[in-house]
Amino acid sequence: MKLNKDIIIAIDGHASCGKSTLAKQLANTLNYTYIDTGAMYRAVTLYALRRGLISDHVHTQELINDLNKIHIEFRYNAQLQKAETYLNGENVEDEIRGMEVSRWVSPIAEIAEVRSHLVRLQQAMGKNKRIVMDGRDIGTVVFPDAELKIFLTASAEERARRRYLELKGKGQDVDFDEILKNVQERDRIDSSRDVSPLKPADDAIIIDNTNLGIEEQFALVIAILAVRFGNGIDCLTKD
Ligand code: C5P
Repeated sequence: MKLNKDIIIAIDGHASCGKSTLAKQLANTLNYTYIDTGAMYRAVTLYALRRGLISDHVHTQELINDLNKIHIEFRYNAQLQKAETYLNGENVEDEIRGMEVSRWVSPIAEIAEVRSHLVRLQQAMGKNKRIVMDGRDIGTVVFPDAELKIFLTASAEERARRRYLELKGKGQDVDFDEILKNVQERDRIDSSRDVSPLKPADDAIIIDNTNLGIEEQFALVIAILAVRFGNGIDCLTKD
């Protein structure tokens, strides 16, 4: 699909509501780069866990002092056809998705210095546009001028069910109630924090996908793109 100009697509929303699925579909179709900002907060959290900077609480000042030692990059894995997250040169893609990181990531993401450090990196990634970025504050803080902003949501139970099936599918030993509690707790912290709380941008299109399939949702967003940035029906044909 070809648009009439290069744009930034910001996808925000609640935990586990399919942001990355939609973002990857769009990036593929448009030949844009997909950037998962949650993975960046998760990588910082993994660093803190490994360094002993999290005990029963986060050792905030020590982590802030270490921010310049944390190098995060995405490298494309041609075999798996997806980008993977690297922390200081090590592939941490699987480890950052585990429950231990999920438990601590929202408290880490509340730290203003962590946010400003990662937001700067994210803004640099979008300087030439042609990106689809997902997270919690992309349309409100990282790219307030993004040409298309989508805010996804779904019921907490449905989101926990999807996450449960995904982790089970990867062979992880997971408990549905624990996942539901984690999803609800992350939503609570993300939505109520002082810095960059999770909320739809005023000009975001809000999609509740509790009862919407992956392909239906994708078709809906493609139709929006075609109306806003298309050259008539031509833009729906792949190059
Ligand atoms: O997207 P994902 O669920 O992997 O993000 C993990 C956590 O990282 C979120 O629950 C949130 O606390 C934090 N996050 C954030 N801002 C972003 C992306 C993620 O605060 N832009």
